[in-house]
Amino acid sequence: MPRDPRYDILFEPVRIGPVTARNRFYQVPHCNGMGYRDASGLAAMRAIKAQGGWGVVCTEQTEIHPTSDISPFIELRAWSDQDIPMLARVADGVHAHGALAGLQLCHNGMNSPNLTSREIPLGPVDLPVATFTNDPVQARAMDRQDIADLRHWHRQAALRAKKADYDIVYVYAGKLFGGPMFFLSRRYNTRSDEYGGSLENRARLLRELLEDTRDAVGDRCAVACRISVDELIGPDGLHREEAEEVIGLLGDIPDLWDLTLSGWENDSQTSRFSPEAYQEPFVHTIKRFTSKPVVGVGRFTSPDTMVRMVKSGILDLVGAARPSIADPFLPRKLEEGRIDDIRECIGCNICVSGDFTASPSRCTQNPSMGEEWRRGWHPEYIRPRQSDDRVLVVGAGPAGLEAAMMLSRRGHEVSLAEASATLGGRVEKERRLPGLSAWGRVVDYRQQQVITDPRIALFRDSPLDAGTVLELGAERVVLATGSHWRADGVGRRVLKPVPMAEGVEVLTPDHLMDGTLPTARSVIVYDDDHYYMAGVLAELLAVKGYAVTYVTPAADASTWMHATMEQHRVQARLIGLGVTIVPHRILVSVDTGGIMAVCAFTGREHRIEGGALVSVTARLPRLDLWHALQACKAEWADAGIKSVTRIGDSLAPGTIAAAVFSGRRYAEELDAPPRSDGLPFRREVTGLSDDYQIPGL
Ligand code: ADP
Ligand code: SF4
Repeated sequence: MPRDPRYDILFEPVRIGPVTARNRFYQVPHCNGMGYRDASGLAAMRAIKAQGGWGVVCTEQTEIHPTSDISPFIELRAWSDQDIPMLARVADGVHAHGALAGLQLCHNGMNSPNLTSREIPLGPVDLPVATFTNDPVQARAMDRQDIADLRHWHRQAALRAKKADYDIVYVYAGKLFGGPMFFLSRRYNTRSDEYGGSLENRARLLRELLEDTRDAVGDRCAVACRISVDELIGPDGLHREEAEEVIGLLGDIPDLWDLTLSGWENDSQTSRFSPEAYQEPFVHTIKRFTSKPVVGVGRFTSPDTMVRMVKSGILDLVGAARPSIADPFLPRKLEEGRIDDIRECIGCNICVSGDFTASPSRCTQNPSMGEEWRRGWHPEYIRPRQSDDRVLVVGAGPAGLEAAMMLSRRGHEVSLAEASATLGGRVEKERRLPGLSAWGRVVDYRQQQVITDPRIALFRDSPLDAGTVLELGAERVVLATGSHWRADGVGRRVLKPVPMAEGVEVLTPDHLMDGTLPTARSVIVYDDDHYYMAGVLAELLAVKGYAVTYVTPAADASTWMHATMEQHRVQARLIGLGVTIVPHRILVSVDTGGIMAVCAFTGREHRIEGGALVSVTARLPRLDLWHALQACKAEWADAGIKSVTRIGDSLAPGTIAAAVFSGRRYAEELDAPPRSDGLPFRREVTGLSDDYQIPGL
């Protein structure tokens, strides 16, 4: 199909200093948990985005020096010439598919605890480092020599970027990562020399780094400045008017302005708390202060919003990190008029959790993220089938939908049977909970693919039993029958069922999602799951007027959501709704009118009042069909069945991302020969140095 002319403007080339982007789709720098440790994986991930049509593909922040070591986070490094081949591998892949490659150089300043390098962190003043992990490390105030050193390191790193063939080289002053932002900030920069005081002084270091970079590589590379326009903390922080002044001051020194909010949790807000284009109020006037192109972000997934951003003169380039992770082929699909095929980012920040857990980022919508090189997965393509086996998939939750869709793309004939009238399994229910409606896109995309696919026979309202499965006689049977929440209090901290008095009202998330509400007006929500569910249900009940007490063994509500950068917002929302949060309490027993709990530290007992308990602890796989099929294994061969396999939550309950991944994995690995090393994927092992001798000999 031809592209819709409404979107033509997005495909116009844009000149950025000495280089030209082929269109306005700009993959801004984003972390991915791979960095220097998984360099080939990282390179393949970026190359596929270029293949998917992005005009510019950038790296994540790249440490320029050991004093910029952001451990435990794993990013790229340009510490010395030794790093050039790794950096070049990324740029080569991006160029091979016709995009410009951008390298985000970064001196992390007071955000680098230097845990690996053990260098003393550098900042405008003597203060503890500003890290997520509250490391017991202080930065020291930089003197003139330190500033000269920093400029030298940055220049050297820029030259390495050029050697590695990058087209765009960044100076980073954003999100309280880029060191120059600490100088810009009145909060942090209380210096009295020419680098402190007036805005002009506070911007001096940034100006010098921009001028140095232009001088070093500006003949061939564009110089980009990534800057935060607001910290969302009012007049004490960097705010829009001040950022406009900085850009007014330095307006035309860089070739491109890349705008963000600060810190990262404000820049990468989730759909539970913010709509698409949430950065618009902070960036809409910036173009008045520079003649250079401007790129900005805002979890843009709608092409109409992207067009509006350009047509209304807010942005020249449409920036995306998460939408480009969820669908690396977004520009190509628009170009080809395949708008319904776009996998829209759901704004869940599972990708961000990869960085926080120092593991390769995964994506709820795009299970190939992080697997491009090591497993050879592609977001769009999958190898053709090796056999004529027909596949029966039982259960149309995220795991079953993904498996059916990808097996069909391999050329298999697929039957998909779902017990209920609707597709989507748990996601179809969870999308109705407060703040989670965008998560429904996991279903919307796959449902659209499945119902328009002639190779997939879809059976709704079809709860299958073992007899029917045998009758259907597909060679391959995939059970994606999901899970249910347990009601006995067993979870992480309690491993035996909790004693419960006769007649107590105990509900699970399944009850609430099926529309059953507590009859008592005061409710205890007990969270030993620690992800979103308990927080969302507490919110649901509080909004409905229940008196809610949130009890958890953890230090705070939905504690794992530190990894998605949402925990502080969850806690604030619950407090705002009048929910009483009781941390560090482990459930012991339930009786009429309340629970007994013990202090997680002292073991002392506490009684907590509440008429009903909502227990959010753990799930159990739904295994009736699995057990029934195991019981008649002897009949499989006669029925033509070669294998029965569990996937998704019916194998082990997990995140939606894990269920989608599991469906994809089944489709990828069906008939795949095992690897000779017996491992599930290819590894990149650090090359051993020749310069080594056993100590003491
Ligand atoms: P996952 O996250 O692993 O995809 P879900 O719980 O979201 O799991 O989805 C499981 C789906 O399987 C649900 O829609 C449920 O109705 C369906 N299901 C469970 N048992 C059967 C069965 N015996 N026959 C058909 N569908 C089933
Ligand atoms: Fe979007 Fe979630 Fe994927 Fe991140 S993990 S790109 S937020 S869908």
